[in-house]
This record gives sequence, C-alpha cells and structure tokens, in this order.
Amino acid sequence: MDLSIEKIRQDALGELETAPDAPAVQELSTRYLGRKGFVTRFLRNISRLPQADRAEAGKSGNQVKRQLEEAFERKLADLEAAGPSADAIDVSLPGRQPPVGSVHPITSISEQICGIFARMGFEVVEGPEVESDYYNFEALNIPKDHPARDMQDTFYIDDNVVLRTHTSPVQIRVMEQRKPPVRVVAPGKVYRCDSDLTHTPMFHQVEGLLVDRNISFGDLKGVLTSFVHEMFDEQTTLRFRPSFFPFTEPSAEVDILCVMCRGKGCRVCSHTGWLEILGSGMVHPALYENVGYDAGVYTGFAFGMGVERIAMLKYGIDDIRKFFENDDRFLRQFQA
Ligand SMILES: [Zn+2]
Repeated sequence: MDLSIEKIRQDALGELETAPDAPAVQELSTRYLGRKGFVTRFLRNISRLPQADRAEAGKSGNQVKRQLEEAFERKLADLEAAGPSADAIDVSLPGRQPPVGSVHPITSISEQICGIFARMGFEVVEGPEVESDYYNFEALNIPKDHPARDMQDTFYIDDNVVLRTHTSPVQIRVMEQRKPPVRVVAPGKVYRCDSDLTHTPMFHQVEGLLVDRNISFGDLKGVLTSFVHEMFDEQTTLRFRPSFFPFTEPSAEVDILCVMCRGKGCRVCSHTGWLEILGSGMVHPALYENVGYDAGVYTGFAFGMGVERIAMLKYGIDDIRKFFENDDRFLRQFQA
C-alpha cells in the first residue's frame, strides 16, 4: 500500500476515535472525504503517478475511502445511540421562555370600560345569559306584539326563554332588588342571530343605569362625556342624536368624532366624520312601574354599548370576527 494513503488512513481513524460529537465527525468527514479532502486529493493525483503505480494506488485509495466512510457512519450511529452526554448540556445558557398567555382584548376593553365607571361610583353587577322573555322584553316595555322585537333577531330556547339579546334585563333585576339610589354597570355576553363583518351571533355589551332623585339628561351627558374622554381622549367630542328605544324616553344615540380622521371624513366613519358608539336615554316611567319605584319621585338614565365596537375603534380593527378566531398572531398584539 502507498505510504501516504496509509498515513491518511491512520490519522483519520485516530482522530475519529476521539471525536466527541456528531458535528466533530462531520468536520472530519469533510476534511478527509470532502471535495478538497485528503483522500479525494490523493485519488485525484493518481494520474500524475508513474503508469506502473497507478492501479495499486487507485485500489488502496478507494479501499481507504470506503473504510473511512463506514467508520464515520458507524461513529455517528454510536453517538446517536448514546444520546447527549452530560457535558453536552451547557448549564450556563439562559432558559427558554415558555409562551405566556394574555388577557383577551375584549376582556381587557370590557374591564377598562367598567373601570372608568367604577371610578365614577358605579358598581359592577352581572345577570344571567339565558333569560326569561319577561326580563329580556316585557319588563323593558317591549310587549309580545311590539314591533321593536323585530329590531333584535332573537335566539329562542322556548316561547318564554331566550338567550338575552342585550344586557338591559340586568336593569330590571337590579331595580327589583334594591331601592334608589341605584348606580350600576353590567358587562356581559349577549346573543343575536346575525353574522357579518361587523356582527357576530355572540358579542359583549356594557349596560349602565343610574336612578336617583333629580337626575336629568344633563347628568347623562356629563357621565358619558367623562367616559369618552377617558376611553379615547379629551379631543374626542360627542353628539347626541334623537333615537328610539322602548325602555328610555327620550332616547339618544351617542356619536363620537371619528377617531381615525377627526371629523374630516374617512372610510371608517362612512365619510360622515362621526362614529356611533352607544345608545342611551332617560329611563322610561313604565319600567319604574314594573319594579315598584315611584316615577313621580325618581328619575334616571341608562345606556348600553358594544364592547367589540369600542375595541375595533380603539385598535383600528375592521373585522369583528378576528376577535373570535383565536389566531395567536392577532391576540399577541394586545399583550400588555
Ligand atoms: Zn373618519
């Protein structure tokens, strides 16, 4: 055998013996068998040898190549079977961060809304999502044959039980249980048969109710103005637009100056410069009768808003369904 190829073989096997891990074996393989490796160069140089030596050199060169290939492969298999050795673990490396969850943006906005009213003295209360027809409609001055029932596409459990279509039934439940002054906000899920870019069959509302002596529309306006300034900013002006709800009289929709264009007109506000954010009004005297309050003594106001709507405006989101698709990439943006 050619002396130089025998030297290459011994060196390679010697180094392989002490190779500690797979990357080291790969490195050896490249150094000996790679395109510029010792064995490859030996074989390439055979053509320069005297004619008589070429056959022998070629034979031993190829033998060594095969032997080393097998040896490297066997070593890799042995290393893999042995698993990582204790000293292959670098205990000084920083640990991997486990993924951390966060509060859902709807929960977060709902808590922000309730927090603002809580600081104004409102108490946070809750009511059932599966509600009787009486609390969801009748006690709120919406009798069975009232056309206002058509405004809300209702999920009926049976003739007298529904999935609540709004958080307003909580107004009745609270007033039944306590005497004025009443000052509450009621957050929660509501349900309607409706689904498109801006509607989902389940969504969230926050209801507000304040009843006491001498409460006027001016109080309603003051409370909602404070709310809007805290939720958005001081530059966000409001306007009250006459509207109709069976359980308030007078009733008003509240618009805010478009948070995107500041009133200039854009796609979000349909070029009106204004965005509708909630419904409100003075509590209808018929409700007081239903709960046993003296309508001659007490007055009050109520309001209700969609949490998703507020969240969409605050974060500039144009598709309500994104909130409920559980796409981690979407939700992660709201991590505090
Ligand atoms: Zn706009």
